Amino acid sequence: MTDLRLVGIAWSLDHLRWVSTDEMTVLVQSDGLCMWAFTGEPPWVDEELTDHELAQRQCAGCPVRGECLELELRTAGAETVGVWGALPEGERREVHRHWLQRGERAERGPRS
Ligand code: SF4
Repeated sequence: MTDLRLVGIAWSLDHLRWVSTDEMTVLVQSDGLCMWAFTGEPPWVDEELTDHELAQRQCAGCPVRGECLELELRTAGAETVGVWGALPEGERREVHRHWLQRGERAERGPRS
């Protein structure tokens, strides 16, 4: 059964389609919350968290969640692992299926 929430997330990335992968990489590396906020151990290091819970904790308040997700979908695609873009890998793989069907990605491929 299709998860419409994940379809909506895929569609929400349409506005990023003309941003180059290089620009997106610089943006995520400079503004991504996890890139600078957790210089030591994160506060939840001793907790047993699912990937879904980890995504909610780690990415809460990150200003580049959409860009991070778009970048991961472009560069890792269906082989994505871990937590990126506020989603666990299983949900990201599902988003990837829908993302591939959007606009020019369907025509020219995901890595352009
Ligand atoms: S969305 Fe999450 S994984 Fe991506 S840069 Fe932000 S905090 Fe890091």
